Amino acid sequence: MKPRGVIVAGNWKMNHGAGDTEKFFGSLSAGWNKVLGESTKSALKTGALKAMIFPPALSIHTALRAAAAMNGAVRIGAQNAHWEQKGAFTGELSGPMLKEAGISHVLVGHSERRQFFGETDETVRKRTESLLEQGITVIMCIGETKNERESNQTTAILDRQLTGALPEPGKGGAKFLDGRLVIAYEPVWAIGTGLTATPAQAEEAHKHIRQHLWDRFGMEASGRTPVLYGGSVTPENMGQLLDCPNIDGGLIGGASLKPDGFLAMLETAGKM
Ligand code: PEP
Repeated sequence: MKPRGVIVAGNWKMNHGAGDTEKFFGSLSAGWNKVLGESTKSALKTGALKAMIFPPALSIHTALRAAAAMNGAVRIGAQNAHWEQKGAFTGELSGPMLKEAGISHVLVGHSERRQFFGETDETVRKRTESLLEQGITVIMCIGETKNERESNQTTAILDRQLTGALPEPGKGGAKFLDGRLVIAYEPVWAIGTGLTATPAQAEEAHKHIRQHLWDRFGMEASGRTPVLYGGSVTPENMGQLLDCPNIDGGLIGGASLKPDGFLAMLETAGKM
């Protein structure tokens, strides 16, 4: 297994209500022993390989129940959470209510939230800081648009997003040391488009992210922070991406909606 282990995380976005969630986990459970080899199952047990699903909020309870029936082999997370713990924030979910439900992981700053719902580096920082403070694992998404890549701004954009959104070293910085902050590099031009960054493009960006973490937070924090790749990951391309030394897993949208695809990606990850 890779030094930081491997995370296979499915972001369902606004797909799969409770009925489809039930069906997904029924098929996942049925295929579990058929598709997954002993080494994958043992890596899932030890936590060297982590399987996560981020369903829409209304499907969280169904997913949690189904995951519990599978002895917690799949961790369930939320797609977003507010930085305040309660109050007048119509349409939002808070850390304490997610924790009460049994959620320990939250996605923050997904490009669709930045693009369609006014998320900024500042609000990403507030969510990240507050959720880490509450003991929740944060998967923080960053990535450049097509125009930004074509005008050679990729690393500058990643630096801007990381500088703006990561807690200052004296505050949340110390919390990186326990590996609860996960970064997901998701080039916007690759999300849901069928275009994947080549392993070389992805590795270059991941290396840059790790260097940024090293410069600001030190070698240990940088070395322990998993950096996932997201952007049209499929069972077919996952192996080549995971072969890259700085890629610690995948955040997967479309291909995570089907149980057979999710199982195939877990099995690939289990062989790394
Ligand atoms: C995502 O939603 O984070 C994502 C990477 O989507 P897709 O795999 O469909 O490109």
